[in-house]
Amino acid sequence: MSDIWNEALKGLQPRLGSETYELWLRPLSVAAVDGHRLRLRAPSLFMKEWFENHYRDAVLEEIFSQTAERYEIELEVDPAGEEEAIAPTANDPHTVTASTVSTSSGKAPPPVGLSERYRFDTFIKGASNELAASAASAVAEEPGRRFNPLLIYGGVGLGKTHLLHAVGHQLYEAHPHRRIVYLSAERFMNEFISAVRYNQFDQFRRRYREDCDALLIDDIQFIAGRDRTMDEFFHVFNALYEAGKQIMVTADRTPADMQGMEERITSRLNWGLVADIKPPDLETRVAILRQKAETERIGIPDDVAVYLATLVRSNVRELEGALVRVATFADLKGVAITEPFVREVLGDTAKERRKTPVTVEAVQKAVAAHFSVRIADLKGPRRHKGISRPRMIAMYLARELTGSSFPEIGLRFGGKDHSTVINACKRISAIEAEDPEIRETLEGLRTQLLS
Ligand code: ADP
Ligand code: MG
Repeated sequence: MSDIWNEALKGLQPRLGSETYELWLRPLSVAAVDGHRLRLRAPSLFMKEWFENHYRDAVLEEIFSQTAERYEIELEVDPAGEEEAIAPTANDPHTVTASTVSTSSGKAPPPVGLSERYRFDTFIKGASNELAASAASAVAEEPGRRFNPLLIYGGVGLGKTHLLHAVGHQLYEAHPHRRIVYLSAERFMNEFISAVRYNQFDQFRRRYREDCDALLIDDIQFIAGRDRTMDEFFHVFNALYEAGKQIMVTADRTPADMQGMEERITSRLNWGLVADIKPPDLETRVAILRQKAETERIGIPDDVAVYLATLVRSNVRELEGALVRVATFADLKGVAITEPFVREVLGDTAKERRKTPVTVEAVQKAVAAHFSVRIADLKGPRRHKGISRPRMIAMYLARELTGSSFPEIGLRFGGKDHSTVINACKRISAIEAEDPEIRETLEGLRTQLLS
């Protein structure tokens, strides 16, 4: 007899989408069918009410369209479900702390899930992340006042999560009695779903709307297109915002670019400050490498750090990964970290990343334009400094960016000897390590050639 229900669900599933179906319809079961009365059992009161308010009519219509008969639906709450105070699962630190909130000292439990390493004092500031880092500091100093909400967005591996954790640490250290809640948007969704399914919605609501002084959510774009979760986030947002509590989120794109995100959420995310993080410039990358080398006790000379930072450009996580890889290999082989060694370990990986290879001609053209010299002069024999410096730079960049051999590059510079190219590369490499102005010039040329 439960066929009516199953057939109705089958008919509805494509229309409602699988998330809704899984979340709100599948947990219901048929208790009985008396004539034209379908009696369903819901695992919780919340689920019962949600079904009545949102899906009952749709189900009745579906039944009518299939059977041409009018039914009624009644719901009862599964008594087992109501009593079932689901114990937090062992690997669920969030739920565990939620149930151990109060301690006699009046201190809140430390926020769960924050990495020890991600603090303000380990975050290197530079032009690319200055706004985001300053806004994060302001939020940590005056939560709920300056920028609320604060949204930090940017590409992968640029330090968004790092800043979010840093705010969490600082808030907790300055106000140990406040409850700081940090989690990923995915986790927020999963906790919400299980709270609903296991009839723990009251705890969920308390944790995120009432017992929460600052909410830090990582990768908020994750909830886009997930209707119930967006709806719940909307309510959480409103409750906290109205109470003057700080909300900070990160995302991999701007609110406007979050496809499937409800307008009422994107507009709220824009209420406070939206700050971007861009890929760090060379100087910042070098500073990040130095710091990482220091904490990991990796011996890397400054000029080699600069060289490594030119190879890995767009992503701090990869930059750190590259350093660790180089250090590991150096350790295994028992050699020092030198530029050729870095090239050997990383050269190919760095080259493979490029979509279209850079040509020697492209390098010559860019360098000639930058220094306002003629390409013919770069290839020619003239030796005065106004020409020879740009020529050496062009050779150096050609070697770095095209992967061509020294003799090949010599050939393309008007048939020069490979030793001339090698000398040019050594000279510029040494100058780059010392002279910030040259470094900037090279960096600009690289960016131009690689983009
Ligand atoms: P995202 O969340 O933007 O993808 P993460 O915050 O996870 O990136 O950062 C990736 C790695 O790079 C982390 O180890 C982080 O500590 C490091 N990192 C990123 N930016 C910086 C920075 N400015 N200073 C120090 N470390 C950084
Ligand atoms: Mg992140």
